[in-house]
Amino acid sequence: MTKEVLLSFEKEQKNRAGISISNMGYCPLQNIYLQGEKKQIEGEALARMAIGTFLHKEFQDRLIKLYPKRFEIEQEVIVFGDLRGHYDMYDKGANILFDWKFFNDRAFRFIAEPHYHYKVQLQLYGLGFFEKNNFKPLLKLVYVNTTSFQEKEFVIPYPTEEEIEKYKKIYEIVKAKDIKQAKEISPQAEWECSYCQFKNKCDIAIEKTKKNKENIILDEIKIRRLAELLKQKKEIEEEEEEIKAELKGIVKSDVETDELKIKYIAPSVRKELDKKAVENFIIQHGETLDKFYIQKEIQASLRITLKEV
Ligand code: SF4
Repeated sequence: MTKEVLLSFEKEQKNRAGISISNMGYCPLQNIYLQGEKKQIEGEALARMAIGTFLHKEFQDRLIKLYPKRFEIEQEVIVFGDLRGHYDMYDKGANILFDWKFFNDRAFRFIAEPHYHYKVQLQLYGLGFFEKNNFKPLLKLVYVNTTSFQEKEFVIPYPTEEEIEKYKKIYEIVKAKDIKQAKEISPQAEWECSYCQFKNKCDIAIEKTKKNKENIILDEIKIRRLAELLKQKKEIEEEEEEIKAELKGIVKSDVETDELKIKYIAPSVRKELDKKAVENFIIQHGETLDKFYIQKEIQASLRITLKEV
């Protein structure tokens, strides 16, 4: 049954043709290709999108029931002559245009600022709203954690003249299917190619992959040397462990030789924090673990391991 629901959702998404405001923050070249093909969303990404869409609807329906006169939902706006979209919700009392985004707990924790493509989307809804009503709303992007219902709210500035010009130019390029110009401004963010359904036929992605491979070939000598060193290190460590294990069985007091000092540490019992029990305690007392997490910046790194041969 669940599979059927997901399949029907997938079909609906694939049949959504054309470019709308919600596409505009993404790669212009991808938006050109998408005009001729059905959108492919599969696996986890499809499931995530389905969960977000279902929750989205439930959220809005409930808010409308709670405040029947206060909100307008899913109204169409048009920018740049014929680029259409539907904003999520407008709060008439507070003059706020909302856009909701749903994220699982893991992803939610790392959101520190609004994503560029969501910012563009909401700014264009704001622009369309102004063109329709002749006054500017406050723009709010709300991220909701699908595990705990916590939210993070960001006020998005109304687009500047330069931004409006930029978005308009991009739309014109996409609409005209001007691949040459689109290539000069694609992708909008580096991560897009990895998730793009056109990565196997797009020159930009193919060139990027080729360059990555070339970089590795250029450094082949270094890589071989690194493999040798890692191999030696592994052999040395294994030998070291063997000798230490042997000594552990013999040495029962401190020993000093010309080259080494060996300190004997007698067996003992020490106290350690039972992290699992602490987590359970926090949850049992009605708290969520989220507020005890801090955001840490993780630098790019490499995990290099020797292949077993
Ligand atoms: S592979 Fe990258 S550059 Fe090419 S269309 Fe997709 S996102 Fe754009």
